[in-house]
Amino acid sequence: MNDADRASVVVIGGGYGGVTAARALDAHAHVTLVEPKDAFVHNVAALRALVEPTWLPRIFLPYDRLLAHGTVLRDRAVRVDPGHVVRASGKRLSSDLIVLATGSTYPFPAKSDEPNAVDAIERYRATHANLANSDRVMLLGAGAVGLELAGEIAAVWPDKHIVLVDQAAQILPGPYDQRLRDELNRQLDELGVQRVMGHALAHLPETAAGQAGTFTVTTTAGTRIDADIWFRCYGVAPVTDYLGDELRAARTPEGYLEVTPQLQVVGFEGVYALGDIAAIDVNKAGVAARQAEVVATNIRAQLAGSVERSAYTPGPPVIILPLGPAGGAGQLPNREDIATAEFISRVKGQDMMIDRYAQLLIAPEVASEP
Ligand SMILES: Cc1cc2nc3c(=O)[nH]c(=O)nc-3n(C[C@H](O)[C@H](O)[C@H](O)COP(=O)(O)OP(=O)(O)OC[C@H]3O[C@@H](n4cnc5c(N)ncnc54)[C@H](O)[C@@H]3O)c2cc1C
Repeated sequence: MNDADRASVVVIGGGYGGVTAARALDAHAHVTLVEPKDAFVHNVAALRALVEPTWLPRIFLPYDRLLAHGTVLRDRAVRVDPGHVVRASGKRLSSDLIVLATGSTYPFPAKSDEPNAVDAIERYRATHANLANSDRVMLLGAGAVGLELAGEIAAVWPDKHIVLVDQAAQILPGPYDQRLRDELNRQLDELGVQRVMGHALAHLPETAAGQAGTFTVTTTAGTRIDADIWFRCYGVAPVTDYLGDELRAARTPEGYLEVTPQLQVVGFEGVYALGDIAAIDVNKAGVAARQAEVVATNIRAQLAGSVERSAYTPGPPVIILPLGPAGGAGQLPNREDIATAEFISRVKGQDMMIDRYAQLLIAPEVASEP
């Protein structure tokens, strides 16, 4: 098909979902990916890269080989209406179809908001140095990120004192099997990671998160904690602040977008949303990628004039939670038992799934003509 004859698709956001959708549509439409960062960030491995900075260059993957036909525009969408995108540079884009894939923010070091990879790497290195020089570490939040960071720190510095603090009574909130928490607690005990559960801190430390500086805090129950550095391990927030008046009607009070099972924004045939912003099965890179495949299938059908659409079906609870390269546990579909540390290490803990995305971004097969 001649490029001029192709319909246009703008994908907003080049995270896990955005790159997968853009790539899957590249041979079928005139694709423009709008993304303010100069590199895709494989944030699944961000905590490993914090404790092992040799990983840092590997988690920032440039976009220049992602698309064989389409364009990656380094810019931020500041207003999106059906058919139109206004960028921070002031330029406008018109498009037949739009895919919203702007994901979520999370406090550093789990995610980085630096637009330049070189600045992000510098920040990770500086924080690594702060962490290396701190004997006692407090992690605020005992969800997946706090647990994973505890495991990473313990694997590199077994002599550091690590304390996880959470107002929840149990580690790892969510729809998970209690046996998974039991196994993670067992491994945390082996690693010597202390848990202070069931009460919030009365106040935050005076030093900023990630900065070295000795402090004392107490929980509302009066438990005293002394540490030399702390990290905020909670606070995921969907990014949907750029929606114009029409699309904003589909936003939930928490900032997610209501979508149909076909992943169209409710009320808009030509606007799709996926990944951490779609109010269906959020906060999983794997889900974002699977939803991107559904969106690409539906857009290809829409462009071909077909009325057939595929639906995204949310799966059962799944989590693969490493505690360092050799530890961790998980809950997987179609498995009765809790996945062992050996299994988790093999499927994720050792390579942190880096090859899957390196293959998509660095060594793609050239997308073929339809
Ligand atoms: C430490 C950590 C480990 C994790 N590990 C796992 C794991 O093992 N498995 C798993 O399934 N999930 C994991 N997750 C969750 C996973 O990272 C998210 O679910 C995933 O990032 C969501 O992908 P996304 O494509 O929706 O958005 P994101 O990956 O958040 O990407 C969104 C992109 O949109 C861009 N953007 C934002 N606003 C705009 C705008 N206005 N204009 C243009 N572009 C914009 C951003 O710069 C970003 O590049 C982990 C999360 C963390 C923090």
